[in-house]
Amino acid sequence: MLIEVSEKAREGNSMRKQYKITEGCVACGACKTICPKHCISKGNPYQIRQSQCIKCGLCVSRCWRGVIELVEIEENTPKPLKR
Ligand code: SF4
Ligand code: SF4
Repeated sequence: MLIEVSEKAREGNSMRKQYKITEGCVACGACKTICPKHCISKGNPYQIRQSQCIKCGLCVSRCWRGVIELVEIEENTPKPLKR
């Protein structure tokens, strides 16, 4: 069987999905009030603290502007050193 390995995968990078608030946010705060993890903070646009986000998607359904998107980001995941 032939398995294709992308250049990025060979380099040790992987793709990860995360929610992102994009331009068009009018800072109404609706998403912040519904987030069960309280990980959305004020800003222009509002910001999601990725380390706390559980990717439930509630903010997406709440945003009446439709400006919260699920995006794919490239992540370099170095393995921890074992001693
Ligand atoms: S609900 Fe939408 S427009 Fe309102 S603050 Fe959140 S992302 Fe911005
Ligand atoms: S996906 Fe869920 S946990 Fe993450 S920011 Fe939106 S409401 Fe909060």
